Amino acid sequence: MITKEKISVIGIFAAAMLCLSACNNQNQEKMNADKNELTQIFPKGEKGSKDLFTGNAYNTGLVDADSVFTTAVGNVYFEPGARSNWHSHPAGQILIITDGVGYHQIEGRPVEIIKKGYVIKCPPNVRHWHGASADVGLQQLYIVPNTEKGIVNWNEAVIDKVYKSAE
Ligand code: MN
Repeated sequence: MITKEKISVIGIFAAAMLCLSACNNQNQEKMNADKNELTQIFPKGEKGSKDLFTGNAYNTGLVDADSVFTTAVGNVYFEPGARSNWHSHPAGQILIITDGVGYHQIEGRPVEIIKKGYVIKCPPNVRHWHGASADVGLQQLYIVPNTEKGIVNWNEAVIDKVYKSAE
């Protein structure tokens, strides 16, 4: 038989479990921060080619362009120190940073620091690169609109001297 006392005991127990769970989550977040581990929302994906990236970067496509949506969407995870080659997008690109710390540079401008929550617009046909900081990785979503104009034109690697100008 379930008495009022039993219900209140169950209530206290449930509240204690919720607190325990919340405290564990806080500890987990702290541990992740200590180890510089990033929150993974999407599958890690395929390792990017050494011809296009310096260091370890992983790409997973989320939306392929089709006749209705001429837009490509995907996720890239850059390990610390990893970055793309210089490149441009014929129709531009939007980056949404979902975790970590990294760099973005439009040619001829200083390197910008980018972090979780930042949204960056890369204009069409402008040479740029993006990647992780030296110590913390970067999770970024990319959106490439109007893919009928093309998706990406790849150029040379970002040399250490340029990459290190960010630090
Ligand atoms: Mn880009």
